[in-house]
Amino acid sequence: MNGSGPCATVYAATAPAAVATPPLQGEQRHDLIVVGGGYTGLSTALHAAERGCKVLLLEAEQPGFGAAGRNGGQVNPGLKHEPDEIEAHYGAERGARIVALAGAGPQFLFDLVHRLQLDCEARQSGTLRAAYRHASLPSLDAQVAQWARRGVALERLDARGAAHQTGTDRYVGATFDRRGGSVNPLAYARELARAACAAGATLAGNSRALSITPVGAEWRVRTAAGAARAPQVVLATDGYSDALWPGLRRSIIPVYSSIAASAPLPPALRARLLPGGAVVYESGHVPTYYRVDASGRLLIGGRGVQRPLRTHADVRHLTDYAARWWPELRGIAWPQAWNGQFALTPDFYPRVHAPAPGIWVALGYSGRGVALATRLGAALAESVSGAGRDALPWPVTAIPRIPLHRFWPVGVALGVALGRVRDRFGR
Ligand SMILES: Cc1cc2nc3c(=O)[nH]c(=O)nc-3n(C[C@H](O)[C@H](O)[C@H](O)COP(=O)(O)OP(=O)(O)OC[C@H]3O[C@@H](n4cnc5c(N)ncnc54)[C@H](O)[C@@H]3O)c2cc1C
Repeated sequence: MNGSGPCATVYAATAPAAVATPPLQGEQRHDLIVVGGGYTGLSTALHAAERGCKVLLLEAEQPGFGAAGRNGGQVNPGLKHEPDEIEAHYGAERGARIVALAGAGPQFLFDLVHRLQLDCEARQSGTLRAAYRHASLPSLDAQVAQWARRGVALERLDARGAAHQTGTDRYVGATFDRRGGSVNPLAYARELARAACAAGATLAGNSRALSITPVGAEWRVRTAAGAARAPQVVLATDGYSDALWPGLRRSIIPVYSSIAASAPLPPALRARLLPGGAVVYESGHVPTYYRVDASGRLLIGGRGVQRPLRTHADVRHLTDYAARWWPELRGIAWPQAWNGQFALTPDFYPRVHAPAPGIWVALGYSGRGVALATRLGAALAESVSGAGRDALPWPVTAIPRIPLHRFWPVGVALGVALGRVRDRFGR
């Protein structure tokens, strides 16, 4: 999927070269083993190494292989739920902590990029949440009011303001949040990997963790070519979770999201479509997201086929959608398209588990992990370095079992189809 051809990411050609991550060989001993080289794992490894921890990260493929190297690159503040809802769900004190952490997630990421000079096209140029149904407008107003009560000023745009920003009259209103922005996601993952190595972490690619077994007070993690022992292990496998830890794969719904990348836009359209460099996600039944990258390509994404992408026909709904709202796109090529998986939880809240002493799990960002997984990885690094559960904003819960798990992919596909029908009939 990440090679050349119609199912390759545009990022493979635009990200800096990856640092060498040779496979694990022989027997090793570390303070911490991290499984998974996405943002959760890389951020944990980086921050733990910076705290003096001897870290080994095991990645089944290469760092950034999973959602971290394929996503939309939107660095969005907050969670899917609004602050009041989050506080009602978690209680006032913990809820306020989660709201603050999720709201400041982008700033944490942009500060990290600045501190470590990560070469990843980072731009804090804002997030637009755009509504195409009048029924969505009250939720935009609530978003603005609730963040205002917490001292964060979001702008509420009317239809004209939204059209001015996006270059289409598709929207009836929008909010603009200056905390957000964008990165080249694979570049960001590779640069985090480089920084983690520079901080002293060992990163092993092509090293799928095959088993975790207790040995005295430690854990032994085995790969095809080697094994490592450590008192603590962080599992950071999100939508790519396998059978490594009992029940983990069945505790989340791995959802595919697809992206199509246009050829560089003609100057007139580029000047009109997101001139300020904001990223957009829509508020609607089948949310679409898009941005214009540093080379002037439109990257548009959304839910689609719930399997690996095969041909461009699998993303035609995205390219047709774009051509409908920006008719100048009709003659423009869409040379690349790809998809990837992220872990969805039924209530859209991320989860932290500690299913055995020394084992930590963080996953379930439900499609909003660029900033959040980076931030949670840093919190996990604090936890494993001695702060324990106190460093974690999220409650540490038991690994849940999702009822009727194998039917969820069908449910997701049906939800997409139903959403399209509802959008078509304006319901
Ligand atoms: C198409 C798409 C678009 C998205 N757009 C956005 C966006 O614009 N903004 C946003 O905030 N979020 C977005 N997301 C979600 C975001 O990318 C994820 O939330 C985030 O990458 C999760 O990071 P992670 O490190 O937890 O998991 P991942 O980045 O998925 O990394 C998990 C890694 O674990 C590895 N792994 C699994 N099992 C093992 C094993 N046994 N041994 C070793 N390694 C293993 C996998 O190979 C993988 O590399 C998008 C996701 C997709 C798929």
